[in-house]
Amino acid sequence: AAMREPRIKRTKTVCTYCGVGCSFEIWTKGRKILKVEPQVEAPVNGISTCVKGKWGWDFINSEERLTKPLIRKGDKFVEATWDEALDLITGRLSELKEKHGPDSIGYIASSKCTNEENYLFQKFARAVMDTNNVDNCSRYCQSPATAGLMRTVGIGGDAGTIHDIASADLVLVIGANPAESHPVLATRIKRAHKLFGQKLIVSDLRMNELAQRADVYLHPEPATDLIWLNAVSKYIIDQGWEDKDFIKERVHGFEEYVKSLEKYTLEFAAEKTGISKEELVKVATMITEAKSVCGLWAMGVTQHLGGTETSTAISNLLLVTGNYGKPGTGAYPLRGHNNVQGACDFGTMPAWFPGYEAVQDAKVRARYEEAWGVTLPKEPGLNNHQMVEAIHDGKLKALYLFGEDMAIVDSNSNHVHDAFEKLEFFVVQDIFFTKTAQYADVVLPAAPSLEKEGTFTNTERRIQRFYQVFEPLGDCKPDWQIIQEVANRLGANWNYSHPGEIMAEAARLAPVFAGVSYERLEGWNSQLWPVAPDGEGTPLLYTEKFAFPDGKARLFPVDWTPPFEAGEEYDLHLNNGRLLEHFHEGNMTYKSKGITHKVPHPWLEVSPELAEERGIKDGALVRLTSPFGKVEVRVLVTDHVKGKELYLTMNTSEDIAAVNRLTSSYHDKITHTPNFKEMGVKMEVLEPK
Ligand code: SF4
Repeated sequence: AAMREPRIKRTKTVCTYCGVGCSFEIWTKGRKILKVEPQVEAPVNGISTCVKGKWGWDFINSEERLTKPLIRKGDKFVEATWDEALDLITGRLSELKEKHGPDSIGYIASSKCTNEENYLFQKFARAVMDTNNVDNCSRYCQSPATAGLMRTVGIGGDAGTIHDIASADLVLVIGANPAESHPVLATRIKRAHKLFGQKLIVSDLRMNELAQRADVYLHPEPATDLIWLNAVSKYIIDQGWEDKDFIKERVHGFEEYVKSLEKYTLEFAAEKTGISKEELVKVATMITEAKSVCGLWAMGVTQHLGGTETSTAISNLLLVTGNYGKPGTGAYPLRGHNNVQGACDFGTMPAWFPGYEAVQDAKVRARYEEAWGVTLPKEPGLNNHQMVEAIHDGKLKALYLFGEDMAIVDSNSNHVHDAFEKLEFFVVQDIFFTKTAQYADVVLPAAPSLEKEGTFTNTERRIQRFYQVFEPLGDCKPDWQIIQEVANRLGANWNYSHPGEIMAEAARLAPVFAGVSYERLEGWNSQLWPVAPDGEGTPLLYTEKFAFPDGKARLFPVDWTPPFEAGEEYDLHLNNGRLLEHFHEGNMTYKSKGITHKVPHPWLEVSPELAEERGIKDGALVRLTSPFGKVEVRVLVTDHVKGKELYLTMNTSEDIAAVNRLTSSYHDKITHTPNFKEMGVKMEVLEPK
């Protein structure tokens, strides 16, 4: 009989390209994607998407997809069966665990993968492999924000929703570029600003799109945001403009905090940041006069030696002015990856079980030990930064990593590559043969979101389901199935037949997910954690209490940490970040034709002043050198950057232009997040001479 034409199918999915969490229907026929159609029911985006959500899906049928397990034989990789690959993995992991102990193996999870997969992976590391050496890429981005919020308000997530941001009287954006990194969220701000009188203050080295629209644009000296934030807080308090009732009823530590601000005078701040006293007074006045303020920030704040301190300073300023717990207020660290929030929430962190309960808390551990039928390790494990150092020190012998191109995204990549070469055994599970996979001993072919089911959690703490569109390509399998197979071969007895069962287990164990279930998340429904047992979520945090036992927030004194100095010969400051069209290291978007056609290569932004001084024009090829490495990249002259500040787009599959060839291993003291944004470089012109 003649083959029937495949029918057009419409499936709800959730975008994998940023933490905004847009959802939409994807129309397919066979393996062909016909269109992406947003629906009014979508809780975050309604009928909007951005270019990535709309056009970024071709990679699904890319010929470069991994379709079979690969095993290294000398310098080559050969195709293998699942049995061969899994036998090798379980044999080698058992051997190394036996010989060097459970803490000689590290586990790197994925912020691109689902909540269920991250839950299972931390369970695998802890319950099967007996170690807390498990981490995810939030270590490279928002860990400092989480730490800053945990110590001031008690929960390391956004205080409210995108609706709160859109309805705030004033939005303060620091070191973030939402128009390119979180486009649909940025549209909400643009609309509120243009049509509804919302005020906008932006602090950034680069004149990004929101900065161009802002009522006040601050251009501080690199790594000095904490200084102006503290100075604005001090000025507000000196004027008696603080929210006295709020502080009295809901906040501890005011006296000490006031003392800690002593040196942060307007004069001191103006001198250090280059922002005028008048501008600082204007900012303080606008914040005081606004009925509700949301503070948004991203990597421009966190990727510094003092990332946690500056995140804390933002939260302090919001507390002093009473901007928590009411609609349109609160702190919003913007999550980069689609599921970086969820990866952290579901426990792929060395010190936390799912739902941010400490592994050191004996009561919590007992709950997991009983449920999982094992004894669990008591001490926090290594984070991914420490894992790299432990490999160099010969303490960590093996890594199991999924859905993370650490060879490109970790800072000081030459140092990371050297570490990978020292590993005795390395498992990489991904959808493409990534830069990281080149160092692996076994590469496992995973299925991307369109080929499986699961949930993602967006920056608002909103959990959403997505449904399977296609069968996995070739021999690919969903990550949760692979993790389960590896675990079972290593002695576990897991029988999850659907991700919904994994979520049900997480909901039973972690109080913040108590009422989360696949039934309640059906279709366009979503839940914002903490979710009560009856299914009621919490869009706005802290309305009654802060997340400390006594219900009160803490003002936490913080001092400025000067940035890393590379030395005099490195006379230019290199900033870096995303661009609208590409996602992260670009493994998916550079394989989507609709996108690469428009933006095929990375580039370096150079100010008109510097271009003139060095005699270069658009398209010139330059070499940047830092103490840690070199890159070569073409120039775009633009007044978005000033003076001796450069900006390099971080998304690239082109090794020669990869920004982390230049960045260092220095890091935030508290969270070990690298100081990606504090790099001195020198520039040589290669062409034209
Ligand atoms: Fe996807 Fe983010 Fe664009 Fe929405 S804004 S479509 S989640 S990349």
